[in-house]
Amino acid sequence: MALCTRLQSFPSSSSSSNHIRPTKASNFHPIGSLHYNSHSPFTEKHSIERYQRDQWLYKTQLENIENIASCSSPPPDSNSVRQNEIALQLPELKKLLQVLREKREREGCGGWKKCGPGNVFLVGTGPGDPELLTLKAVRVIQSADLLLYDRLVSNDVLDLVGPNARLLYVGKTAGYHSRTQEEIHELLLSFAEAGATVVRLKGGDPLVFGRGGEEMDFLQQQGIHVKVIPGITAASGIAAELGIPLTHRGVANSVRFLTGHSRKGGTDPLFVAENAADPDSTLVIYMGLSTFPSLALKLMHHGLPPNTPAVAVERGTTPQQRMVFAELKDLANKITTVELVSPTLMIIGNVVALSPLWSLSMNEASCMVQTK
Ligand code: SAH
Repeated sequence: MALCTRLQSFPSSSSSSNHIRPTKASNFHPIGSLHYNSHSPFTEKHSIERYQRDQWLYKTQLENIENIASCSSPPPDSNSVRQNEIALQLPELKKLLQVLREKREREGCGGWKKCGPGNVFLVGTGPGDPELLTLKAVRVIQSADLLLYDRLVSNDVLDLVGPNARLLYVGKTAGYHSRTQEEIHELLLSFAEAGATVVRLKGGDPLVFGRGGEEMDFLQQQGIHVKVIPGITAASGIAAELGIPLTHRGVANSVRFLTGHSRKGGTDPLFVAENAADPDSTLVIYMGLSTFPSLALKLMHHGLPPNTPAVAVERGTTPQQRMVFAELKDLANKITTVELVSPTLMIIGNVVALSPLWSLSMNEASCMVQTK
């Protein structure tokens, strides 16, 4: 009893989205015929173009900088980008910093004349649909000198960046995880000290599992003013898209955001789950794909009914959104069957059954793909 939907929008919430095409009943396909769209809504492909654009900036703006030719590296080939992007970008970032510092010195800052640091904005970009950005976020994005972005910031959002801004990918990939967070801190600090208006773009809300708090803390300790612009967190954006009220009188009186991923030395999310097995509460799991099978078992072991309604949503609010509805006891298997990949969010609780798509899923004989 599951419905796997490749659903570009839930009619009530997204009729105004310009990236959504109208529903066609003839577009129902069995799951086996699902073709992944090679045009990812996230940044894998796009970042190559951005990288090349930044190269262009160096070519035109750094001509007068000594040794620029020796520092220039050719654009990466598309296959190696995901693995090497951070390493490739770091020399570029250092060169950009050098340019900014020299510009600042030319303008009379440094030495006897001090100019203040630039501002750093931590901007939440929402779960993917650019129409879920706040007006404030759009204004700041369009006025930035330099933007640092990671994997969850969608291409549609990046398209709002002005043509003269420098846009740099600082996403984390396996193997680089802990090292780059520190490097990101240093980069934000260095660029702010060089007087740039720096925007750190983060998927969803920067202060919900976004490490925004750590970046803010670090910069504030260094005397840099940080302004946070909230974004719509994945839980809110996706719940709205599916027509699921996260709280509902008589159904769920609280909502809990839980990470399925624990940092080294942190509290085991499976331990947290013991306290989260509450049928009157809605549970939203971020970063939970790999731990979900054991988490679901633990929740049931601690009293959450196995038939609790649940849903897993991949790339929610984007044109590539895919989802699978199932009872809690079946969801882990369904996720495996339809091969959901990151980013995927799980919502568990009786409120899930309030989605119009839930009853549709209960009526489906087989797992179907729906394209709107
Ligand atoms: N700061 C973000 C969360 C970052 S943690 C926010 O507030 O939404 C990353 C996790 O968020 C992913 O592993 C996934 O569980 C979830 N997520 C973010 N965007 C998503 C999307 N568009 N679709 C599904 N899950 C998403």
